[in-house]
Amino acid sequence: MKLSLTDFLHPLYLMFFGFFAVSWGWGVNAVAADIYLKRRLKMVETQIRARGVKDARVLAVMEKVPRHEFVPKTYRGSAYVDGPLPIGYGQTISQPYIVAYMTEALNLKGGEKVLEIGTGSGYQAAVLAELGAKVYTIEIVKPLAEEAAKRLKQLGYKNIHVKWGDGYEGWPEHAPYDAIIVTAAPTKIPEELVKELKEGGRMIVPVGSFFQELVFITKENDKVKKKKLLPVRFVPMVKERKMLHESTR
Ligand code: SAH
Repeated sequence: MKLSLTDFLHPLYLMFFGFFAVSWGWGVNAVAADIYLKRRLKMVETQIRARGVKDARVLAVMEKVPRHEFVPKTYRGSAYVDGPLPIGYGQTISQPYIVAYMTEALNLKGGEKVLEIGTGSGYQAAVLAELGAKVYTIEIVKPLAEEAAKRLKQLGYKNIHVKWGDGYEGWPEHAPYDAIIVTAAPTKIPEELVKELKEGGRMIVPVGSFFQELVFITKENDKVKKKKLLPVRFVPMVKERKMLHESTR
């Protein structure tokens, strides 16, 4: 029997090939998801738990959030390495350990209102949201703010609000915040942000230029206390108002 090309357009063949193509696609995705999960579990074990992060909820969330979805496609294979990675526009997604360390310091139990400065890829915001926080996050580079908002929406995060704007101005409409996390380094502590911190609130911010230190700030009985935690290296928190217009998202 001779088969011509048009014979393959028979509905039975189409169904067969369609089924084959879809299940092959599923298979490939499932294998990839499994590889990423394995790398993520290893990342938490060797980079995070091994360095002393103990909060079980933070560890569980670091095991859950798909970091590879937050890096450019070319860096997906490196998404779980022990360091920051470029996300375009001269910016970086922070090292996994630093994300976990800063998150643990905020001591979130769920239901808190958290302000993040420096949305970047949206990864840190996703980690905070997975801990049950309502997240307000500000990014000064417009395309990064737009991409992060889109990515977070696609991944199903509903409790994260991304705004394109200048973090030095805070987000007074939703203040005060239970916790504030700054993921770009100002040369000194931005007072506007401290003002937006709730009584009993916690704030963590890398401060400095070349040499930076993570500073942990608490506010109790209207008294602001500061404690230096560890030396770090973040991209600078810039004051680039000329890039801004009225629009927010
Ligand atoms: N938290 C991010 C990584 C942050 S990198 C993540 O999880 O991927 C620091 C980010 O801060 C950069 O995207 C940078 O554009 C942004 N940034 C720098 N100065 C800022 C400012 N004044 N206000 C808001 N964002 C700022």
